[in-house]
Amino acid sequence: MNVSTRVLELSETIPDFPKPGIVFRDLTPAFADPETFRAIVDELGADVTGGFDVVAGIEARGFLLASAIAYATRTRLFPIRKQGKLPGDVLSEDYALEYGAASLEVNPSNLPQGSRVLIVDDVLATGGSCRAAARLVERSGSTVAGIGIVLALDGLGGVDALRDYDVSVLLTEP
Ligand code: IMP
Repeated sequence: MNVSTRVLELSETIPDFPKPGIVFRDLTPAFADPETFRAIVDELGADVTGGFDVVAGIEARGFLLASAIAYATRTRLFPIRKQGKLPGDVLSEDYALEYGAASLEVNPSNLPQGSRVLIVDDVLATGGSCRAAARLVERSGSTVAGIGIVLALDGLGGVDALRDYDVSVLLTEP
């Protein structure tokens, strides 16, 4: 069975979370299944045209993916964090979420200039967080080699918002 079928089978849909009217897709059971998680990590770490030398995870579920990909591919790890978590001279990008607004931050001293960075996250909705993450990588003096997503929610514009980037999605859902 291929990885997208497994993710679809194992993921759960929770209505009205975290706010009324939002339908939340929960990939926790897919990440908890050892063979499915291994397949996700292997697929997201493959097929980046030109390769990558840093893998960046978006807090928090992107950290789970990025850590495993960094370990499996012996690649440098770079955290893209929510506001107020990183010390030092950080760069910040504001963005709109499907449910609210937020900021992401990086400390560019942890990213060698000119790196080719693979950005990973679990779910793509409007694309706001991935775009902010990509901007932070670029403002840090590096290039976005690719963006790897497990599940893209169709109809929220995420893939279109990331049209300037090489985006790889394991599964697209209405
Ligand atoms: P976007 O910025 O609108 O693309 O939203 C994507 C970000 O919000 C990712 O970091 C996701 O983890 C989170 N997110 C948005 N919708 C969902 C969902 O239905 N399930 C899980 N995470 C979600």
